[in-house]
Amino acid sequence: MTQTQRISKYEILEKIAEGGFGVVYKARDPFIKRLVAIKTCSVNNQEMARRFFREAEIAGRFDHPNVTIVHDFGVEGELAYLVQEYLSGEDLLAKIRRGDDLPLVEKLDYLTQTAAGLAYAHGKQVIHRDIKPANIRVLENGQVKIMDFGIAKLTSSSTQLTQEGTAVGTLGYLSPEQLRDGELDERTDVFSFGVVAYELISYRSPFRGKDLSSLMKEILHKTPPPVDELMPECPPRLAACVARCLEKDPARRWANFEELLAELAVISRQVADGQPDAMISVSSPAAPPAEDEAAAIAARDTKPVPLAVEPANPEGPTTRMQLPPPPAAAAAAGAAAAEAAGADAADPDAAAEPDAAGGGAAETGAPAGASTPAPARLPVKLLVIAAAAALLVGVVAIALWWTGGEEAVEAPRATTPAAGDGLAEGPAVAPVAPQSRLVVLAAPWGEVQAVTRNDGTALPVPDRAYTPLSLELPPGAYTVTVAHPDAEQPASCDVDLAESATETCRLELLAIDATDYFREAGWWR
Ligand code: ATP
Repeated sequence: MTQTQRISKYEILEKIAEGGFGVVYKARDPFIKRLVAIKTCSVNNQEMARRFFREAEIAGRFDHPNVTIVHDFGVEGELAYLVQEYLSGEDLLAKIRRGDDLPLVEKLDYLTQTAAGLAYAHGKQVIHRDIKPANIRVLENGQVKIMDFGIAKLTSSSTQLTQEGTAVGTLGYLSPEQLRDGELDERTDVFSFGVVAYELISYRSPFRGKDLSSLMKEILHKTPPPVDELMPECPPRLAACVARCLEKDPARRWANFEELLAELAVISRQVADGQPDAMISVSSPAAPPAEDEAAAIAARDTKPVPLAVEPANPEGPTTRMQLPPPPAAAAAAGAAAAEAAGADAADPDAAAEPDAAGGGAAETGAPAGASTPAPARLPVKLLVIAAAAALLVGVVAIALWWTGGEEAVEAPRATTPAAGDGLAEGPAVAPVAPQSRLVVLAAPWGEVQAVTRNDGTALPVPDRAYTPLSLELPPGAYTVTVAHPDAEQPASCDVDLAESATETCRLELLAIDATDYFREAGWWR
């Protein structure tokens, strides 16, 4: 038998695939007479070999029914090899891709087994970091095995790059904190697990951006529709469980897989028992995914997503920003509010309309005539109260402005932009309709630190103002400052916003190629 047909004592039967580290073979242990899978890695690539050794060491200590068993590890010549149990069956990706007609109880069983494997690994202080359908194998007997455990994703596999050499692998399953290069803990696997669960339940992706930028934007900012909207047979409790996995803020997710397992156990019991609150008919599985959707999932999980540093539609979450009012304007606002209260009282249509200027009297304590159909003329007493309240707002605004601009801008809150983007909380003030738009783009990404008008006025910037970001601003000249944790210093750009104009501010925060950046972060395949 030649060298290529044997690695150590193992007889090579066939090549399974070109894996992240090197070729993966199906082989046979001639003494124990069992099938094995052998992953290989060239030791000439020191960085890759170092990771391969380390990960072999980690995976070699695992002993759990839902985690792939490692039998052996060694180096022969220039080849390091990792011998694992051979896994028959197929991965979840194949099932999702085909849109298999699976009963919900079965899907729940796969999810529960996956969660059990992850709970075990987390107990060993190992975070997978690459949970995706292609890494979850379902054996013929229904047993689930998590593959690629802790295998670092930094590879030099050119076979998976596009012609242009710019590609990313399983971005669609990465957590927001992975995208932001933030601190990772077990909740990052909870997020990826949530994406898998969403796809397995509905055969639809929660994040569907077609290129790197739009996908990143969705993961960072978009709350996907509840999964039971896509798959009506899904019990609301399961939809809520998945939604909690997909929370952008790790603190709002399931804290660990033990918690998640307990919840899945309750849901599974309800589904199996056909309990009414589970609202599920186990015999009515989801319709297979639309062809293009299945293809999108398949492509995202197996093929690189082309890199586009600039989003196709760069208008990320919109934050409405307004200037703190000067005292005169605040007084005028108070007077206007008083007037509006009077007008609202006299005009039921106007009263029913939410105040375009940020809630106005209704939000600042004026009488409640705004929400109910008012009679043609309200009692004089009510009008007096409205005027007094509005005047009070004006006086308070002046006082706050006088004692410090920061507080002044906290007064009335602006009408919030679209929910779910995490940016709706920004404080804002004067009832001035924004008229212009500034789109802030940064490579690889950045956080807006300051927006300053050329007269020196600093606008209140909401927390977590990550790019790409769309700001609505009154016309004027501004300086926008954006930072990235790895950049030595923030970068700024100056823009002059004409009325109703849209300008774009483009900043390069890290002087590295975006491909290298993502490769270093371990997201390139
Ligand atoms: P990575 O995410 O590390 O880049 P990959 O999926 O590209 O991983 P491998 O994990 O090395 O590469 O796997 C390559 C192929 O081998 C996949 O099709 C996988 O299903 C298959 N495979 C991996 N381990 C086993 C195993 N123990 N038994 C059977 N097939 C396996």
